[in-house]
Amino acid sequence: MTKGGTLKIAVASGKGGTGKTFVSTNLFHTLEKKGFRATITDCDAEAPNVMGFFNPEKEWQEEVTHQVPVIDAEKCVFCGKCYEYCEYQAIFYLPEMKIIKVMEDLCQGCGACTYACEYGAITEKAVSLGLVTGYKSAEKTRFIEARTNIGVMSPVSLIKKAISKIDPETEIAIFDAPPGTSCPFIQTAARADFVLLVTEPTPFGLSDLRQSVETLKQLKKPYGVIINRAGLGDKEVYSYLSQEAIPLLLEIPFSREIAAGYTSGQIVCETMPALEDQLYSVFLKITQEYGNSNYQR
Ligand code: SF4
Ligand code: SF4
Repeated sequence: MTKGGTLKIAVASGKGGTGKTFVSTNLFHTLEKKGFRATITDCDAEAPNVMGFFNPEKEWQEEVTHQVPVIDAEKCVFCGKCYEYCEYQAIFYLPEMKIIKVMEDLCQGCGACTYACEYGAITEKAVSLGLVTGYKSAEKTRFIEARTNIGVMSPVSLIKKAISKIDPETEIAIFDAPPGTSCPFIQTAARADFVLLVTEPTPFGLSDLRQSVETLKQLKKPYGVIINRAGLGDKEVYSYLSQEAIPLLLEIPFSREIAAGYTSGQIVCETMPALEDQLYSVFLKITQEYGNSNYQR
């Protein structure tokens, strides 16, 4: 983060269903109430659901496309160079039968095959990957959603576009990160200043947390952990955090009231002000590295 710039916090979890969006939406609501100029970006482009909690008003929309090759079989001499250049196995190539075909759903639009072809047999066409949409609900708060078209293999281009659309005047940007630790998560975390990992005290929660932590170590990103549904499961997650000296920023106890509120699309902080205070404390702990006094309200 540059001095005076946007502080970007990614809220992530190794797997779905641990409460990542519950935390991101409630943290965003907390910051909105504190009067910050804040944006939440739904980077979970294959299954975005953040907007459902806020019902904001649509402001703008952009289609994200990439360039996919089109092979002219009349000009092709079946040299195979494009097939060799394609790292994504997106070119179906059977020279003995004079068949060559681009599999658009596998193509990443990298342009390597077009560059490789010396016979002018490859041109390109734009293919839609999905939509990035901007919303607002109040003067200082904005929402951005990345949403892939069905069948698109990688949401990375949409995530990059969505994050690039954040207004530079934004004080705090929350990213609701894609689940897992593969490319979409990495691309989101790499653009954040801090990653808030949400886990649960179960063997599955711990296993996914370990993978997320290893990935973030490689990215050299600061991170901390919220344990959701504390009180269920076992104590292994706590031992792991202690061994690795990973900051435990908050425990949210399992509560039927929270579960019922979240599953019915409510912002739980609205009926549980104590949770709002706790999330604000987490936020202040995160900001300690970035000049805490700028964020005191
Ligand atoms: S653009 Fe890239 S991914 Fe797509 S077919 Fe060509 S080399 Fe493969
Ligand atoms: S590089 Fe060009 S000429 Fe060679 S197989 Fe591919 S499309 Fe055909």
